[in-house]
Amino acid sequence: MTVYARPGAPDAVMSFQSRYDNWIGGTWTAPVGGEYFENTTPVTGQAFCEVARSGAADVDLALDAAHAAAPAWGKSTAAERARVLNSIADRMEANLESIAVAESWDNGKPIRETLNADIPLAIDHFRYFAGAIRAQEGSLSQIDEDTVAYHFHEPLGVVGQIIPWNFPILMATWKLAPALAAGNAIVMKPAEQTPASIMHLISIIGDLLPDGVLNIVNGFGTETGKPLASSNRIAKVAFTGETTTGRLIMQYASQNLIPVTLELGGKSPNIFFDDVLAKADAYQDKALEGFTMFALNQGEVCTCPSRSLIQNTIYDEFLELAAIRTKAVRQGDPLDTETMIGAQASNDQFEKILSYIDIGKAEGAKVITGGERSDLGGDLSGGYYIQPTVFAGSNDMRIFQEEIFGPVVSVTSFTDYDDAIRIANDTLYGLGAGVWSRNGSTAYRAGRDIQAGRVWTNTYHQYPAHAAFGGYKQSGFGRENHRMMLDHYQQTKNLLVSYAEGAQ
Ligand code: NAD
Repeated sequence: MTVYARPGAPDAVMSFQSRYDNWIGGTWTAPVGGEYFENTTPVTGQAFCEVARSGAADVDLALDAAHAAAPAWGKSTAAERARVLNSIADRMEANLESIAVAESWDNGKPIRETLNADIPLAIDHFRYFAGAIRAQEGSLSQIDEDTVAYHFHEPLGVVGQIIPWNFPILMATWKLAPALAAGNAIVMKPAEQTPASIMHLISIIGDLLPDGVLNIVNGFGTETGKPLASSNRIAKVAFTGETTTGRLIMQYASQNLIPVTLELGGKSPNIFFDDVLAKADAYQDKALEGFTMFALNQGEVCTCPSRSLIQNTIYDEFLELAAIRTKAVRQGDPLDTETMIGAQASNDQFEKILSYIDIGKAEGAKVITGGERSDLGGDLSGGYYIQPTVFAGSNDMRIFQEEIFGPVVSVTSFTDYDDAIRIANDTLYGLGAGVWSRNGSTAYRAGRDIQAGRVWTNTYHQYPAHAAFGGYKQSGFGRENHRMMLDHYQQTKNLLVSYAEGAQ
């Protein structure tokens, strides 16, 4: 067991700056209006640094820098871009603990996740797209004996990216790595709840990119995000966040007729067929672990398996085992490597989750375990901790239909295969799903019948760089991860060439 020292403590692996300016054109740049906002750690509820509060003028400066840098970066060789991406990955790897502590402190998530998942996945993402861009090829079609159509991939130019607070560095990386690999210059706006870990990352890797290729502008949604997404100087906007905000982003982008990709909310079903309990073996153990995945990242995951559907023949027994397993999820100091669930990312989110727990109780759902905030004592008492909570109820309840984005799972039963699929698809969303069955045919059919962009079969919450990720229905459109992502950051140039010497 290791408890990492808090940022800035004498034996800490990292310390934050007391103030972060924007990162524009390769330099720290004070906000034009001179204003800053406080950034709080959810671990203790205390403010620990201040961050630039930007407006349209700051976005314009960042766009100026990006436009100045885009032509040269876009024309650089794939080998050069891959080299830069790999150097970012190497630098991150060499600073793994420092970045992981920063991420845990800013977001509240356990250090065992940031050390072993978030940051290693981000590192791998840069390496994956470094490889993907080297391997990308255009195509050639022979139209007739003397006429050829060439298809080239070209970068879009300058792109805008807006990200949420639940996986600050990983969400940033999912957007940065493919956009940079494809040869674009970027203006990114982090979430106002978690700007500091990204700025710490920039202090580590910022010098590796040519000035202006990557620009980070901090601030609030309408003050900073809106001018960016509305700008006629971006060629695309990529957004991850709430479905309601996604609608606004589309409206802004429609004024300039630019492409949009949206990664939005979810209400993912996790389905347990009766053969899961056929034997008390390693598979059953894995399935019960799969149930507890609703608490991973404090439930602040767009694919949180927030609805569990359990076949009625095993319902009571499964729920009993699942409750025991849930109670074993250890909550504590996010900087303790033994901690499995940490703090909710912000006070607003904390209050929202508690109000949904009240809604569940008022709707008549039964609390199987949890259902309260956690007071962890000492200065953690000021932090935003909630017990992993299991509700039993029915799919028409609000806690089954609305995204809570916390460590809360709503459990119900189903009778047979068709009933499972009907309940699973009875949602506005279509981002993720889980299917648990020892029967390969059942698992495969369910995977195909569920209307979601990612269905995990006999596993959950894996995010390898080379598996496409994205939503159906109101969970958005476009994909992240996988080399197909390059298509979202490139356009196709067709040269149709005649080599005939005379008229044909
Ligand atoms: P949010 O929509 O409130 O904010 C996301 C980002 O958008 C922030 O940077 C915010 O400042 C900015 N923003 C807000 N209003 C804006 C506006 N009018 N114009 C431009 N930018 C604006 O979402 P959140 O609460 O930060 O994140 C949680 C949501 O993100 C959840 O719904 C979750 O499901 C979703 N999410 C989806 C995925 C995915 O890949 N599908 C991944 C992570 C999170």
